[in-house]
Amino acid sequence: NYSLKQLQQIDAAHHLHPFTDHKDLRAAGSRMIVRADGPFVYDSEGNEILDGMAGLWCVNIGYGRNELAEAAYQQMKELPYYNSFFRCTTPTPTLLAKKIAELAPKGLSQVFFGSSGSEANDTALRLVRHFWALEGKPEKNRIISRKMAYHGSTVAGTSLGGMEGMHGQLGGAVPNIVHVMMPYAFELSLPGESDHDFGMRAARAVEDAILEAGPDKVAAFIGEPVMGAGGVKIPPASYWPEVQRICRKHDVLLMLDEVITGYGRTGHWFAAETFGVEPDTITTAKALTSGYQPLSALLVGDRIAGTLQEKGGEFYHGYTYSGHPVACAVALKNLEIMEKEGLVERVRDDTGPYFAEMLRERIGGHPLVGEVRSVGLMGAIEIVGDKRTRERFQPVGSAAVLVRDHAIGQGMMMRATGDTMILSPPLIWTRQTIDLAGERIARALDLAEADLRK
Ligand code: PLP
Repeated sequence: NYSLKQLQQIDAAHHLHPFTDHKDLRAAGSRMIVRADGPFVYDSEGNEILDGMAGLWCVNIGYGRNELAEAAYQQMKELPYYNSFFRCTTPTPTLLAKKIAELAPKGLSQVFFGSSGSEANDTALRLVRHFWALEGKPEKNRIISRKMAYHGSTVAGTSLGGMEGMHGQLGGAVPNIVHVMMPYAFELSLPGESDHDFGMRAARAVEDAILEAGPDKVAAFIGEPVMGAGGVKIPPASYWPEVQRICRKHDVLLMLDEVITGYGRTGHWFAAETFGVEPDTITTAKALTSGYQPLSALLVGDRIAGTLQEKGGEFYHGYTYSGHPVACAVALKNLEIMEKEGLVERVRDDTGPYFAEMLRERIGGHPLVGEVRSVGLMGAIEIVGDKRTRERFQPVGSAAVLVRDHAIGQGMMMRATGDTMILSPPLIWTRQTIDLAGERIARALDLAEADLRK
């Protein structure tokens, strides 16, 4: 048995962490989460922390579900691995693909598996370019994405994404990807501009990019229905239908990245339904297994799948773990539990609206808060220095980090992105859990305010 100090020393000596400043890590040591149950995680010091992030937007059915462990165990005993290359497969990915197609918006009936959201987006990028090549239009290969988008950390994922800091370290992006403005009214709407008009203007930026490149050069537009890592940016209702109309008009494919929003987060199985769009592809991962196993699924619409089947020719693409039987068995059990417990409907009809009310009533009025917003169980709190002018504390991001640290101290795990606090809790949260979160966040805001106004 190791002490926390020993574990931290070993960690600093050997473990390179994702998205971490290793100088900081060395100085401060890592926080060790050692177990979890229901909506709570526990650190090595025995602190109980309400997990407002569902891990990393993924543990939708909460922690400690023995049925998932049992499903993995049974599958490992029976068939721990076989591949799905070269016209082989195993029963679990086959049955999972059917299940996902049943839950998906109409017309998305084929599924390609990987292990991560990044892999799914790589696949999607390659697949849409392959599609246009099969259609005899290989020059239709440009992709339009958005500033501040997050589509993963592989070279293709980073290139698709719109985070400048990540681009700066890329050392050569995948070519022919352009980034347009994001639908982020809090910072980008003009004085007096209605939400509707702002949404239409942000959508027009997509059309401008299509026209600039020439529609015969543009393969697809990709976007997260709600930008997640970029700050839970919820577009106005006018945005997605207009983007879809523009894509259809110019015969540009519409790709949704639902790695966060897929499987219930916004109160529908897919956010495509929440926002009323019918995409050509949907990328999913995370909550497909509630994070209990690494698994992603790219949902492919009938138009693309039809061309693959009609034209033939091998798509030279796949991963050793595409359709991993154990991950797929866990996903099947996870989806079964979500359906049995009616979690998606509960978010839509009960906890989602209650969560919005909690943010509005308990948090929205706080002097540090410029705006709260949410859809389903996905929310954001904008931290500002001045409620009226929305001026931020300097340096940007420092205030939110302070709120986050106080929140963790109060037993509330949330994330800070720039000056936006993010919440994306397990879908098992009840009204009582939401009340508890509200209390802890309000206390964290008070403590941060006392520090900031010192
Ligand atoms: N796309 C979105 C919208 C994401 O939020 C993420 C991860 O957070 C990814 C893609 C990448 O997924 P992964 O980390 O599983 O590669």
